[in-house]
Amino acid sequence: MSENAELTFSQSVDKMIERALQVMDIEEGQALALRSCDSVIQVRFPVNIKGRIEVFTGWRAVHSTHRLPAKGGIRYAPYVDQDEVEALAALMTYKCAIVDVPFGGSKGALLIDPRNYNREELQLITRRFTLELIRKGFLSPSTNVPAPDVGTGQREMAWIADTYKHLHPEDVNALACVTGKPVHLGGIRGRTEATGRGVQYTIQEFFRHADGVEQANMTPGLEGKEIVVQGLGNVGYHATKFLSEEDGAKIIGVIERDGYIHDPDGINIEALYRHIVEHHTIKGYSDGKFHEDGKKALEMECDILIPAALEAQITNENADRIKAKLIVEAANGPVTYQADQILNKKGIAILPDAYVNAGGVTVSYFEWIRNLSHIRFGRMQRRNEEMRNHQYCAMLEEITGTKISDLAKEKISKGANEIDIVRSGLEDTMRQAFQEIREIWLANDKITDYRTAAYVLAVGKISKSYIDIGVY
Ligand code: NAD
Repeated sequence: MSENAELTFSQSVDKMIERALQVMDIEEGQALALRSCDSVIQVRFPVNIKGRIEVFTGWRAVHSTHRLPAKGGIRYAPYVDQDEVEALAALMTYKCAIVDVPFGGSKGALLIDPRNYNREELQLITRRFTLELIRKGFLSPSTNVPAPDVGTGQREMAWIADTYKHLHPEDVNALACVTGKPVHLGGIRGRTEATGRGVQYTIQEFFRHADGVEQANMTPGLEGKEIVVQGLGNVGYHATKFLSEEDGAKIIGVIERDGYIHDPDGINIEALYRHIVEHHTIKGYSDGKFHEDGKKALEMECDILIPAALEAQITNENADRIKAKLIVEAANGPVTYQADQILNKKGIAILPDAYVNAGGVTVSYFEWIRNLSHIRFGRMQRRNEEMRNHQYCAMLEEITGTKISDLAKEKISKGANEIDIVRSGLEDTMRQAFQEIREIWLANDKITDYRTAAYVLAVGKISKSYIDIGVY
């Protein structure tokens, strides 16, 4: 293999981990054990589609079981393979450790283009895939819990949960076998937006640290910052919607699979998203300028580039032409190992996937807890909290002799509901993890980038838990 040949996705993740291990004091055998994928299955199953038998291929990899259940999404895409699934399972292990979610790492995929099948066919295929995973011991509330990823969503998660429940009617925790379900079927409020929301909290936290902002050659403050996003799916849409509507950032470029829209005045994300949902293309959107070569737009001058679509988008080939000051990896693996080295040399700051997109698994963790406790967050406390706050207002009025306005009283008194609790838990998690990554970086002269610092944080936590349970 020539020196410039691009590594596979799992080799790329492994190399990044190797870089972190080089600055740590970890015994070689232990490091090897930590990096290897525990187990992976490949399943093949037939489904009758429009009177013809089609055979589908899927995988589920478990990278680590130092904590159980192992957790990770299931993607439906026409390009997936075992290498990709193993790489994504490894990323899940590190991700959970970085944000202190007590799960091992797993990932699943089905080789399929979901756009070629109708709802009924997808339901048949999903239920059959679920059956295969359950039978092989790769799906249950206590051992392996999937979630949505590319090409899957709430609908598929509901089918998975229902299939498991029918096979295990005696399992009172059956609904916890999968997360990302619709709210009326045991899902949690805020899961759909969670990964994009996490990206927003990450960027907000980045701008709270003046030294890091200066190091990335940026001026203080998120307001007015120019952002280019690749992929306006679940993650890209929510992240850019919140960043533009709530933080005043300007989304100047949106790249989709069929081209990109450029508007230096800022794109209205909600309007563009509605256009894509209606027309299934980014073409024909009334504002901004449409261009065909989407990949080229990654090289656009901007403050922040958010790749939120696929892996291996910034590679050996285009890394040198990237002009963004900060790359926020909302997708998994959008920057290859070789590209990462080029970007680091150029002084472009990169916030790594294993941290940035951890909002999804964090809220999945909340959903899993909600399913095991069989009660909505806030249900027991909300009215009690409101009553106490009303009493504080009344006391304050009595002591000060001043009447508090009805509007202010309502704001002060409001008890937290589920979405408030989820967002607050998610924000706390993302902020805390960012601060831990920074502390590791600042404490070690050999660390020169956020990714290495994040992996040092993850590997440290995982190896400690292996030592604690006596595996090493
Ligand atoms: P999605 O399927 O909802 O969205 C992906 C978007 O990317 C789509 O709009 C698609 O049209 C677009 N796209 C596909 N190919 C493209 C190309 N070549 N150029 C530009 N755009 C392209 O998927 P998602 O759930 O938003 O996931 C996106 C990324 O985020 C993936 O890497 C996924 O693993 C990662 N991720 C997702 C979650 C989650 O909760 N959904 C959690 C963690 C990580």
